[in-house]
Amino acid sequence: MHEPRSLPTMPYGEFSRLANERALSHGRIIKAQLELTYRCNLHCRHCYTDPYNNIEFFPRELRTSEILQLIDDMAEFGIIWLNLTGGEIFQHPQFWDIYNHAYGQGFLLQLYTNGTLFTKGLVERLRQTPPFTIDISCHSVDEQSFDWFTQVPGSYRSFLRGLDLLQSAGLPFTLKTKAMSWNKNELPAIKLFVESFGQEFGFTTSLSPRLDGDLSSLSYRLPPKDVVEQETIYWGQSNNSATCQNRADLVGAPPNQLYRCGCATNTIHINTWGEVGTCTLENEHRVSLRQYRLREAVAKAFKEVRTAHYQTNSPCSTCDVFRFCQKKASDARWEVGSVEAPIPYNCDLATQRAFSVGFTDLIHPLRRHEEPITTASKRSSHDREEAI
Ligand code: SF4
Ligand code: SF4
Repeated sequence: MHEPRSLPTMPYGEFSRLANERALSHGRIIKAQLELTYRCNLHCRHCYTDPYNNIEFFPRELRTSEILQLIDDMAEFGIIWLNLTGGEIFQHPQFWDIYNHAYGQGFLLQLYTNGTLFTKGLVERLRQTPPFTIDISCHSVDEQSFDWFTQVPGSYRSFLRGLDLLQSAGLPFTLKTKAMSWNKNELPAIKLFVESFGQEFGFTTSLSPRLDGDLSSLSYRLPPKDVVEQETIYWGQSNNSATCQNRADLVGAPPNQLYRCGCATNTIHINTWGEVGTCTLENEHRVSLRQYRLREAVAKAFKEVRTAHYQTNSPCSTCDVFRFCQKKASDARWEVGSVEAPIPYNCDLATQRAFSVGFTDLIHPLRRHEEPITTASKRSSHDREEAI
């Protein structure tokens, strides 16, 4: 009889660093975000999936059998971190079949939830087979404001009860906040609330158009000057400048790629319609898993994103402040009609961020170009694909 083999262990931080470094050097994909459903018990005013939280769209969603197959494919593909998201994951009618299957495959499971549906029974089931983390949205700690924003009376009380249950069960959870126009004045109170759970307070500020192109979610954006002000208050300095003080690293001619972020490196996103892409909010290059196997679909989507370049004289193609900018191609298509066109909000914000860390000699990207953007730029890559 063989002696049981003991596996080497290492601290999580070191494991994570090594896994990410190896993935980068070998071009491997190790993280996946999987949307289970667009069903949700809330209707948050900024939510990009909410237009599809409607019974008429549910038949289009992946069937449970398809999700289970996909989970097996992802395990074989080498995914380590699997994020289950929605919509609201606990609204999926077969959530436990999916969760247990994913748990059995040994992923490090990260659950995204609004935190309002936890019950004693649900928490006990999670305690038996705990996820790696549970991320819960926390945009307000004022009952009236919270319920106004979710458009569901009683949601704040359910949220508090959920946190209480999780804490009592000793399950790991993290609160995450989006700073918006309506909750800006609440940020100090939210910070105290988050810290009362022994967690570090952080926030994001970007908002995107809804999946159907509705721009109403953008009305909750903080004005650029407020973003910079809040980032400076809570982080000391705005954007990424705190870690990068060399002027040449921060401003100057951009690469010509359309995607200058981390898109198409080590992460995939699969929407609830079974379309794989490179990021949650990147919808220009989706490949259907109902037509292609996972490996082929990923290769196709990644190739398209990696080879997408500016083909026009868009100010983005020569922008000095691109490192301070978080423009997304799909946002630009919905907001300004073209993936190549600049988004004025992002230009204002990037310029203000650059100004806030001392680059006061820079010219706003929209004032550098007098000539109109070429006709080609008015056609999105989405349009071009359809035309082929
Ligand atoms: S809880 Fe999440 S999925 Fe549900 S409406 Fe709010 S933002 Fe959208
Ligand atoms: S959106 Fe504006 S700031 Fe961003 S890259 Fe384009 S021109 Fe530059």
